Amino acid sequence: MTDHTTTQATGPLVEVTGLRKAFGGTTVLRDIDFTVPKGSVTVLLGPSGSGKTTVLRSLNVLDLPDAGVVRIGDASVDFSAVTRGRDGRARGESAKSVAALRRQSGMVFQQHNLFPHKSALENVIEGPVVVQGEPVREAEERGRELLAKVGLADQADKYPYQLSGGQQQRVGIARALALRPELLLFDEPTSALDPELVGGVLSVMRELADEGRTMFVVTHEIRFARDVADQVLFMDGGVVVERGTPAEVIDAPRMERTQTFLKRIL
Ligand code: ADP
Repeated sequence: MTDHTTTQATGPLVEVTGLRKAFGGTTVLRDIDFTVPKGSVTVLLGPSGSGKTTVLRSLNVLDLPDAGVVRIGDASVDFSAVTRGRDGRARGESAKSVAALRRQSGMVFQQHNLFPHKSALENVIEGPVVVQGEPVREAEERGRELLAKVGLADQADKYPYQLSGGQQQRVGIARALALRPELLLFDEPTSALDPELVGGVLSVMRELADEGRTMFVVTHEIRFARDVADQVLFMDGGVVVERGTPAEVIDAPRMERTQTFLKRIL
């Protein structure tokens, strides 16, 4: 099995149409539309509270959107048509299609969310072994390769508390890769790190981009966005206000809201 098999030979890998989400009567996402070509990097920018994390969580279906269609590769869910139980979760056939959509992406969180009582390697193999039923020995072999890829070949047996924040984030990246996702999602992966640890995480992300992985990244690292992104989306108030290449959105923003935001963070 390769890391990114695809059944969708043409067209974008990701297609999002009319995505809507409210929390307790407050609308957080209003008709979000975008596409992500296979092998490209999209950076999602926007002020705090604009809905960026909710977009990521919708792609990975950690939150169930109220409406809209999300397609990743050959898995697609129309959230208006999902059957929901009293707990708000998808039920029956809907639960199966949601699970299939979830399998298409792997998420790297702002805080790594590693299991504290498991070693780096055990954290990385947890998903393949427990969720995907991969034999432990094979998962370990591949887990070690992934840890080497993120620069942690000699840290496989360390526990999270023995690693720096940057190393923990890199374990988080290896763990996301271990599930062989079509799409990698990053939710401000460097924002909780001390400044001197940011570079190591960003350089791993650059390498992944160079390998042609499809990435969707929420970050305030504008230099990374300029250098690596193929597409930049700027969100405010639950809508995508502006989109384009980094040269368009970051260096020559047309919308006042984008200009104001960039002035604040640059
Ligand atoms: P961002 O990532 O851009 O900071 P979020 O997607 O985290 O924005 O949040 C967008 C809005 O949705 C915020 O107003 C936030 O308070 C609200 N929100 C997010 N998650 C929840 C939740 N689980 N329950 C209630 N409100 C939420």
